[in-house]
Amino acid sequence: MKNVTHWINGALVEGSGRTSEIFNPATGEVTGRVQLASVEEVDAAVAAAVAAWPAWRDASLVKRSQVLFRFRELMYAHRDELARLISAEHGKVHSDALGEVARGLEVVEFACGIPHLLKGGFSEGVSTRVDSYSIRQPLGVVAGITPFNFPAMVPMWMFPIAIAAGNAFILKPSEKDPSASLLMASLWKEAGLPDGVFGVVQGDKTAVDRLLEHPHVRAVSFVGSTPIARHVYESATRHGKRVQALGGAKNHMLVLPDADLDLVADAAVSAGFGSAGERCMAISVVLAVDPVGDELVDRIVSRVAELTVGPGDDPAAQMGPLVTEAHRDKVASYLELGVAEGAKLVVDGRRTPVLGGGAAEESPGFWLGPTVLDHVPAGSRVHTEEIFGPVLAIVRVSSYEEGLELINGGEFGNGTAVFTNDGGAARRFQNEVEVGMVGINVPIPVPMAFYSFGGWKSSLFGDTHVHGSEGVHFYTRGKVVTSRWLDPSHGGVNLGFPTNG
Ligand code: NAD
Repeated sequence: MKNVTHWINGALVEGSGRTSEIFNPATGEVTGRVQLASVEEVDAAVAAAVAAWPAWRDASLVKRSQVLFRFRELMYAHRDELARLISAEHGKVHSDALGEVARGLEVVEFACGIPHLLKGGFSEGVSTRVDSYSIRQPLGVVAGITPFNFPAMVPMWMFPIAIAAGNAFILKPSEKDPSASLLMASLWKEAGLPDGVFGVVQGDKTAVDRLLEHPHVRAVSFVGSTPIARHVYESATRHGKRVQALGGAKNHMLVLPDADLDLVADAAVSAGFGSAGERCMAISVVLAVDPVGDELVDRIVSRVAELTVGPGDDPAAQMGPLVTEAHRDKVASYLELGVAEGAKLVVDGRRTPVLGGGAAEESPGFWLGPTVLDHVPAGSRVHTEEIFGPVLAIVRVSSYEEGLELINGGEFGNGTAVFTNDGGAARRFQNEVEVGMVGINVPIPVPMAFYSFGGWKSSLFGDTHVHGSEGVHFYTRGKVVTSRWLDPSHGGVNLGFPTNG
């Protein structure tokens, strides 16, 4: 049984009290325990970060970027090990876990360019013998609180840029799959990052709430569900912190009648069932504009029949289990609900065979196969609520306008996609849709590291998206220096407001 501890001041640190269980979602077995930090344990991590920060802030840009380059190489060398840790606790298949590591590493690669990213502006001679220049400086100790669904990538949306910019960073990973955080911490140390600059506190609400109110934590990045994102935003801003809190999602794919239906069906199945639908950018609703519905559903159903569901470490599996029993049960409850609301259950994931086992609902482990609900009524709970599992809802609409209204009328605004061969319609969609990340014939439009990731409405609280230039901005604050080097002549006392002369 593994014991997942904190990482404070460059070393593993045992917790002093509460723990929670870690499962193998493919079997349902308990494989270890994770420490749940007390207020004192969080305070110890923050104290180590406070002590380490000034020297790291003062390390040259070149030195900081060299540590980032070494971290990148070490992470790349250990990517297989990291992916295995993720699969064992999250359940996603190995290739998918490798994919999340690769996307996270792109942010590390972006952060390696920190000397360029932190260049300021300089204006010579803004007044007589006066120059002005702008600089961006780190905030101090910052914290990241992350969800279960990407235990490596989501932390990597945050800490590479925060650390490269000269901050100390404390990560509070999900207690459901915490092991990746400790491997990453040990690789930071091996890369030469001074002790205390990267810390990990394992835990739950107690640890999160202490980070939100701690006087030495200057900024908080959060990714998780909308109710917790709202709580984090409200509490941390009340305590005077800079906050970016990314919440849940319900992403729609709008299929116009001129779209290539094979491309659409491939995209809907990939984006709906990849990682068992436990992605904030998963497609969970297909809006089929008349008359494509019947033909599209046929093509989706025939592809779903070909999917293989099995343990993350089985190379033949394309989709793994859900993360916990409680989450699987919640997701599965939407099947009955959907039928009660008037939808037609065209593929029932409870009956899906699991590699090496029986039907999903009869196998040990947290299984639910790909599920398709057709004719889901617009505005029903299956249509509007975040399910966060392998349930694809097909909503039939009569026009582009009706589809757009359903997307814009929803609570969330994380991702969306339009499928069409009409450039004018696509351009109209990108202009009119109230969503932060838009795909045109691309089902999961996750921005590259050098752009910023974030949704609108209840998918993000705060005004800064993560990584890219907004990430650099979030983890630094601006300062403008106005300097005059005296010459022998000066104008004497002047109580007027400084103006240019
Ligand atoms: P979650 O909100 O349950 O947990 C996220 C983090 O908050 C975890 O570290 C958890 O320990 C902590 N937490 C949980 N309850 C808390 C409480 N009451 N008080 C303080 N902290 C608490 O989310 P999850 O189930 O781990 O992740 C899935 C959710 O994350 C989905 O809603 C998904 O859409 C969302 N998500 C969003 C994005 C995005 O970019 N917008 C990305 C990934 C996941």
